[in-house]
Amino acid sequence: MKVYINGVFFEQEDAKISVFDHGLLYGDGIFEGIRLYRGNCFRLDEHLERLEYSAKAILLELPWSRAEISAAVCETCRKNELSDGYIRLIVTRGKGSLGLSPRSCADPQMIIIADQIKLYPDEYYSQGLKLMTAPSRRINPAALPPMVKSLNYLNNILAKIEAANHGYEEALMLNDQGFVAECTGDNVFIVHKGKLFTPHSSSGALVGITRQVVIDIAKDLGYELVESNLTRYDLWNAEECFLTGTAAEVIPVVEIDGRRIANGQPGTLTAQFLDAFHRRVAVEGTKI
Ligand code: PMP
Repeated sequence: MKVYINGVFFEQEDAKISVFDHGLLYGDGIFEGIRLYRGNCFRLDEHLERLEYSAKAILLELPWSRAEISAAVCETCRKNELSDGYIRLIVTRGKGSLGLSPRSCADPQMIIIADQIKLYPDEYYSQGLKLMTAPSRRINPAALPPMVKSLNYLNNILAKIEAANHGYEEALMLNDQGFVAECTGDNVFIVHKGKLFTPHSSSGALVGITRQVVIDIAKDLGYELVESNLTRYDLWNAEECFLTGTAAEVIPVVEIDGRRIANGQPGTLTAQFLDAFHRRVAVEGTKI
């Protein structure tokens, strides 16, 4: 595998950055996870727009234009001879001194890894995922807006560990007010009385690219979509529940906190959205 670091391709074993990089020392950086389907980068422009938003929000001036970043992403896919895969695009503040101040970091690092991905086994898509609510909460949106996809994922990692310790693959995360925010790496949707509901970004949810695809599909299919505060009771009593994410795509949830959603089977609307999602990724995207 060839890894891109600031314009140079390295073999996987030789792809290294400094131990003084503030991305490592302080989690001072941002990232994107992008999907490649049939030689096309899915919603690449939207991912790069979010990266630029994250950079601006953390006062990290990107020394590359969107066209340059896009070209680097596509070149990394071509170099690795991928037609389907997952791209991790990372920008760190760069090498600096041991102090917190980013003033010593003159040279941001852009790292691009393009690889295969399979987040969940096939049976989770046909039989559904079971979740538990994690004790660790999503970070307060006033402290770090969830629109910023930063390298600080510690509370999500803790939630993932807490779920794993109880035999669950994935955790539901609440915000500091006790409303549902999202899962550790995916957005959450429910179906109630034929309408779709998902937490608003101000509840602590990342503005997911796949979430937006589902919102677009809902519009096309004529379903009403409501962004609102959701409690765990809303999820427990929902007719259907599913998660969305670049790596997970659209995945049904059949149980939360030991409570079965509807009859414990993936819902029909969820299947409809998963199908529509697959049809979209087959035809959309930026050719690499
Ligand atoms: N929430 C979090 C915390 C994430 O890290 C991600 C990305 N894995 C998502 C939601 C889903 O976002 P996207 O659809 O853009 O991948």
